[in-house]
Amino acid sequence: MFFEQENISSAEYAGTREGADMMKVTETIAAISTAMSDSGIGIVRISGPDAFEIADRIYKGKKTLSSQPSHTVHYGWIKDGENTIDEVLVMLMRGPHSYTGEDTVEIDCHGGIFVVRKILETVLKNGARAAEPGEFTKRAFLNGRMDLSQAEAVIDVIHSKNEYALKNSVSQLKGSVQRKISAMREEILYHTAYIESALDDPEHISLDGYGDTLVEKVEELLKELKKLIDTADNGRMMQEGIRTVIVGKPNAGKSSLLNALVGEERAIVTEIEGTTRDILEEHIQLNGVSLNIMDTAGIRKTEDVVEKIGVDRAKNQAEDADLIIFVVDSSRNLDENDFEIMEMIQDKNVIVLLNKSDLETKVTKEMIQEHLDKPMIEISAKEEEGIYELEQTVKEMFFRGEIAFNDEVYITNVRQKEALEQAFTSLKQVKRSIEDGMPEDFYTIDLMDAYEALGSITGETIGEDLVNEIFSKFCMGK
Ligand code: GDP
Repeated sequence: MFFEQENISSAEYAGTREGADMMKVTETIAAISTAMSDSGIGIVRISGPDAFEIADRIYKGKKTLSSQPSHTVHYGWIKDGENTIDEVLVMLMRGPHSYTGEDTVEIDCHGGIFVVRKILETVLKNGARAAEPGEFTKRAFLNGRMDLSQAEAVIDVIHSKNEYALKNSVSQLKGSVQRKISAMREEILYHTAYIESALDDPEHISLDGYGDTLVEKVEELLKELKKLIDTADNGRMMQEGIRTVIVGKPNAGKSSLLNALVGEERAIVTEIEGTTRDILEEHIQLNGVSLNIMDTAGIRKTEDVVEKIGVDRAKNQAEDADLIIFVVDSSRNLDENDFEIMEMIQDKNVIVLLNKSDLETKVTKEMIQEHLDKPMIEISAKEEEGIYELEQTVKEMFFRGEIAFNDEVYITNVRQKEALEQAFTSLKQVKRSIEDGMPEDFYTIDLMDAYEALGSITGETIGEDLVNEIFSKFCMGK
């Protein structure tokens, strides 16, 4: 996710240390680090080998900044030649003790788009290059200040759409993913090293019965990986929102419901059946839970070709949904369309809304219950009644302790999930090879594949550490 945005090549993506060495940075970069709006203060950040020199050129105060110790703050003025731009506080951090690991200067100036931009322009005029999005974090990674999962977590913190997602990103940032992955890698490396050493030195190291030990270990690792992979789906829910699809026959009040939830007239509400032919998507917050909510074409049997496409698409969306909100028009009798929908959503997470409770009702909860046993709420989308109950039900369904947020490690991005799945497949193969009585060097190939896949999550790769491990621990008697 992060790397797609930054257009980083695959060599950097793998994050090899050699790659990092080759990419030692010489340019000094600068950017506005606060939001571009009128606010109390604004921060311009400069990072790179010339950060202090550039600051010296534009700062007027009692002292020259470059002669000051690290982690000190200085009051003064920023000048563009003769023009004074703003009264500022300047913070100095010498590498490697800074976020990027490089010499860093932060200029705290008055907020306000014009002032902050003017200061950045002055910084750029005096020798820095404008940073690309995420470039400070990229440097932090290249300078070994954080691993890949932490770098991605930084981006996630910035993009967090709700408090749970934020909590999760913060925990990743602290390195919880990294610790877990590193522990697994260490384990894999140990066993690989052991087998390799035994093959090299059979006189001293025996592999008798080692298969059983290894199978046990691999099973444990598989279990742990499975757990992490499973969290990826919950993680996705927290990060991107629960995929929620509103279904119902035409005119049940689906668009009216979406409007009531979003609080704006987004969906077109009309009395002509079949107006919502495509799919509308909205991101909304209900009590801190993010929903990606989709209004779909009313589901009914139709001969109209365009409408039929909408109906089919609605069915597909419902198929993939995490949560389905089924809107029933309680002022009209249930018909074959309602029955078809109920049939379709039997095995899904569903909340049934008996809409139009403000009108005379023809449909009762009992009537629905005969066909579909799911939580039901009476609402009026038009009068906005029952919306609070809907919010509560959504919240309860997903956070009734089923998802624990505190100490769990959640995998929230697709790249990490894929790497975990790769590691899982490789370890499965190790298990199979042992059970099939294959020679030991077969295991090590798949073990190393798993090791490498896990390493791509944290940005480490094999190479030297394997060699060191083998020689430091197992190469005996020579
Ligand atoms: P959709 O086809 O399911 O998206 O239905 P709409 O949201 O377009 O609503 C169809 C018609 O039902 C419109 O005339 C709405 O004003 C009306 N409607 C929707 N919800 C309610 C409600 O709770 N009470 C009443 N009386 N009318 C409603």
